[in-house]
Amino acid sequence: MRVFREKVQVSMFRQLTGLTGLAIIAVLAVPAQAEPKFSFATTPGQLPRDVIPTRYAVEITPDPKSLTTIGTEVIDIEVRKPTRTVVLNALNLKVDKARLDGQLPGTVKIDPAKQTATITFARPIATGPHKLSLAFVGQVNAQAEGLYYVRYKTDKGEKLMFGTQMEPTDARRMFPLWDEPVFRTPFALTVNLPENFKAVSNMPVASEKRLGGGLKSIAFAPTPKMPSYLLVLCAGELESLDDQASGVKIGVVTTEGKSQNGRYAQEALKKLLPYYNDYFGVGYALPKLDQIAVPGGFGGAMENWGGITYNEAILLYDPARSSQSTKEAIFNVVAHEVAHQWFGNLVTMAWWDNLWLNEGFASWMDTKATDHFNPEWEVWLRANAAKNVAMQSDARSTTHPIQQPVTDPAQAASAFDEITYQKGEAFIRMLEAYLGEAKFRDGIRRYMKAHTLSNTTTADLWAALEEASGQPVQAIAAGWTEQPGFPVVTVSSRCEGGKQRLALRQDRFTVNDPNAKALLWKVPITYGEVGSDKVESFLLADKTATTTAEGCGAPVKLNRGDTGYYRVKYEGDLFNQLKQNFSRLQTADRVNLLSDTWALVQAKQAGARDYLSLAEAAKADTNLAVWQQILATLGEIDRLQIGQPGREPFQTYARALLQPVYQRVGWDAQPGELETTGLLRSSVLASLGKFKDEAVVAEARRRFEAFVRAPESLAPNLRPPVLSVVGRYADQATYDQLLSLARKTQSTEEKRNYYAALAGALDPKLAQQTLALSLKSEEEPNLSTNLVLQVAGSGEHREMAWEFAKQNYKALLDKRAFFNRYKYLPGLVANFTEPERAQEFEAFAKANLPAEALPEVSKGAEFVRASAGIKEQQMGEVDSWACSRTKIEGGKGTQFCLGVN
Ligand SMILES: [Zn+2]
Repeated sequence: MRVFREKVQVSMFRQLTGLTGLAIIAVLAVPAQAEPKFSFATTPGQLPRDVIPTRYAVEITPDPKSLTTIGTEVIDIEVRKPTRTVVLNALNLKVDKARLDGQLPGTVKIDPAKQTATITFARPIATGPHKLSLAFVGQVNAQAEGLYYVRYKTDKGEKLMFGTQMEPTDARRMFPLWDEPVFRTPFALTVNLPENFKAVSNMPVASEKRLGGGLKSIAFAPTPKMPSYLLVLCAGELESLDDQASGVKIGVVTTEGKSQNGRYAQEALKKLLPYYNDYFGVGYALPKLDQIAVPGGFGGAMENWGGITYNEAILLYDPARSSQSTKEAIFNVVAHEVAHQWFGNLVTMAWWDNLWLNEGFASWMDTKATDHFNPEWEVWLRANAAKNVAMQSDARSTTHPIQQPVTDPAQAASAFDEITYQKGEAFIRMLEAYLGEAKFRDGIRRYMKAHTLSNTTTADLWAALEEASGQPVQAIAAGWTEQPGFPVVTVSSRCEGGKQRLALRQDRFTVNDPNAKALLWKVPITYGEVGSDKVESFLLADKTATTTAEGCGAPVKLNRGDTGYYRVKYEGDLFNQLKQNFSRLQTADRVNLLSDTWALVQAKQAGARDYLSLAEAAKADTNLAVWQQILATLGEIDRLQIGQPGREPFQTYARALLQPVYQRVGWDAQPGELETTGLLRSSVLASLGKFKDEAVVAEARRRFEAFVRAPESLAPNLRPPVLSVVGRYADQATYDQLLSLARKTQSTEEKRNYYAALAGALDPKLAQQTLALSLKSEEEPNLSTNLVLQVAGSGEHREMAWEFAKQNYKALLDKRAFFNRYKYLPGLVANFTEPERAQEFEAFAKANLPAEALPEVSKGAEFVRASAGIKEQQMGEVDSWACSRTKIEGGKGTQFCLGVN
């Protein structure tokens, strides 16, 4: 699955620091005990294992008018020891007419808390095969959980589409079943629908017949044995773009009139299928693979086997209207979901405690495959940003190991986080670099072959990689997947006999967590002299190590190529040497040094001036990844400066820092320029607009007016920055214009851009109007509730949005799917930078939210405390740096800087 990372949500996981003490903790943790390889009997789960499903035949009739369903199912079961009761999952369903083998009636008891249905029979069922038949009544949900509906606009009026989202634990909302991934079972699905509907599921349509009364019945071919979370059903007035690739029937399925915009995703799939067939060493397993575009607010994408669903904003590409970042997102998400067709679908983690096997691997593979087919996008360089998101979260007290116990649906939903995805990706990348690309791939091929159509644990993956590489993978990996956090490697150098003697020491890297348990890792270290391609490597297995490098005084860089998941702190002259030689570093090393330096600032192991002086050394840089790192950090400092007197001089300083790159990229694309230059331009313009660059704001307004008259006048790449700048400084008339554009468009990509722009308005009167919109039902629930997050984030009305959310939390949370419900308020509160807000939020949550929401609450509160820490510790240094580097002409800035200097 891929979860939409909107700007406001990402901000939750951005930069922070805190109140780390210098406490030295002497106790070193003993590595956790390794988990066993997969076995059905020892896999965790809620359901008893004495009855096992072996086949489902389900018939369901969803009614587009009443938004209810009626259905029947016959489940082939295998009874392993005599029992009178059968326990399976059901949620928000009315289940009755239970019968065994067509005769023996059973009574059904629903337990809403456990989300189960228990069927009790008058006498024990003998061991062996039986047939359990059930009838049920359920709902079609407004949120993307189980079977849901979306409404969307067309030229012929409003229409309705059905979709499903089952992962992690929502298939049980559609019909009763064993809803745990270890119960791999074939599904034979039949659906009864209005005659003008088309329907798509995991497998091709086997038969279709008319039922009369305007209905038809569609039966799909049975699936292979698969986990329930991969089931899919989409239906509506759909059309599809059909093709073939590697002997597989492929299609992009959209609402009517949009299938031509599926060409780009179709081409991506045609490249990826043969690539993955080769990489995994096993061919794609099903006869067809559809990619389904869902309009509205359904979040992200889901790898349902043979029928992947996407929010249409990350599947459909309109060359006349879609930006480069949309194009990249499409390739990347397609690469992610298609990788899951093997890693996750053909071979599945046994339980949610190993979710990282699915998501860490697919995240790594999507970057690898995107880079393979689009090397000019430099996605590995830019993957530093995603790694940073994980490392920042992983440095706080609220982090957790990649592998963590999961006992209920809230914990399963919570596992879909940056540790599972981005730390998982970064760790796999480090491991691949250590073992070598070919050996790593051979291990993956062994793993696929050995576990086809079955389940696994992490131990099974390590075993396959050990066989292929001959390396002790389990021993290296345990520290990274079974312990929280990661190390900072401190390096110092001294000259001995004409050579540098490097002393290395590892410590756990933390932010605002002085009592963190001391831990050790087996760290794959790489290092080399700046300007040389020669890279040395070794495994730092102990607390300290020494090694040598050529040439005293030559700058040495660790974590070459940015492939490692650790921070590096350079002591003595080493840091200054790297700064002086910044332009000679390879690009990945420049990005890595910038992000490590900012992380050390957050941890109070460096000062803000260390980072800002490095950013100045990067002034002449032309690389997108370097600038994205700098722009993200400047944006974070600007966020911490909200409401502070130092904000104006800081913004003046930031504008001056960005002038050279702005002069270079300008407003308009040059013929033949790199696609990454288009992205750099839009990022720089958005930042300058945010930092109140008057010329950029005026030009954005001019271009927006021209766009309203003639949309084709504004290049697709310029639309997101122009809209965000215009929205930020909007008056009522501009706001109304944006709102009318948002309401009118039939493109989800455009709708999201317009709403994000108007929700970012600084004018408090407009912010109030946006908050009111969030409770109206004019847009899909996810999209409308996101408005509150955007008012607090880009709109900077934290107080107003929080007060609003406190008043209306029930209505707002009801609009969120269970999957992302508990992350909602923490994401909003994370915009604060005052420690008392963290406390207030915790008290509010304790009084008003269920206990299962509290772990996410802690993460949000800790984020606020960490932000408060860096604000208090570092903003003084930012102020004096900004004032001393900038001539502030007139205004409050001058007065403030007089006081500072
Ligand atoms: Zn995924």
